[in-house]
Amino acid sequence: MYQQRTIKCEIGCRNVGLHSGRKVSMKIRPGGVDSGISFVRTDLNGNNIVKADFQNVRGTTLATTIGLNGISVSTVEHLLSAFSGMGVDNAIVEVDSPEVPIMDGSSLPFVNLLKDVGTQTQGKCRKLLVIEKPVSVSDRDGSAKIVPSAEFRITYDIDFEHPLIGKQSYDMTFSDEVYEREICAARTFGFLKDVEYLQAKGLALGGSLKNAVVLDERRIINKDGLRCHDEFVKHKILDAIGDLSLLGMPIIGHFIAYKSGHKLNNLLLKELMEHKECWKVVTYYNGKNDQDGNMSLNVPSFKILDSINNQKPVMY
Ligand SMILES: [Zn+2]
Repeated sequence: MYQQRTIKCEIGCRNVGLHSGRKVSMKIRPGGVDSGISFVRTDLNGNNIVKADFQNVRGTTLATTIGLNGISVSTVEHLLSAFSGMGVDNAIVEVDSPEVPIMDGSSLPFVNLLKDVGTQTQGKCRKLLVIEKPVSVSDRDGSAKIVPSAEFRITYDIDFEHPLIGKQSYDMTFSDEVYEREICAARTFGFLKDVEYLQAKGLALGGSLKNAVVLDERRIINKDGLRCHDEFVKHKILDAIGDLSLLGMPIIGHFIAYKSGHKLNNLLLKELMEHKECWKVVTYYNGKNDQDGNMSLNVPSFKILDSINNQKPVMY
């Protein structure tokens, strides 16, 4: 958990794109130390790379879209969530379309791909962003805030005017085990009337009962129902983990959301970055590299970095 990780070798998959309804081929390749997650549009020549970074978010309607220099990749959040959940810091994602394949609407297929290929440490410690003072954002419907905590914790509340959803709440302390066991299988969900409206406008053409939980006024249309009774709020957490990973490093803090979504999640990161007095960046400190050499990776402490760009480390 202290060192940066990437995948052991290339993996790939092919599935439909949520919006276009067309097949998308995706390859995930190992990424170098400190490189983060980058998306490459292989259907375009040159100038075809977009880094997974909150500053590159170009759209938050229905999904999170990132873009740079006129090119974009949409529905990145479920894959990013899987990377975060499985502790992958660095990877290169190649897609031959403007969107990531939707798979079954959860991040479980991506988690399985990552587990199949395995991950490896890269000999350099992770940076972490530690929250020191609360930061919050809100809009007409909901709110999102992050407050100091000893670990990455998420508390999420949703409230939908639908008899099968209503109010749901979930609280978790993040770990790869909890992510895999409780969160990654939760599918995206939508309402039949919205699906019909979107498809009439040429959107969500790939959306189907194979990749979403769909509800009409009273019931769940998918014949197998839900994977768990609180699948809705768990999917919102899955999304938030993906959206927050666009910060580029794990957060040590408590994320508290009420009816939040992609837009507020992104606004929270922007607000956070504007309030530098509310956080510090640290890296795990491996005593083996220190002059006295007394510490080991089993007893990590932190050193503070004076900026996100890792300059002039200071011990504490
Ligand atoms: Zn989602």
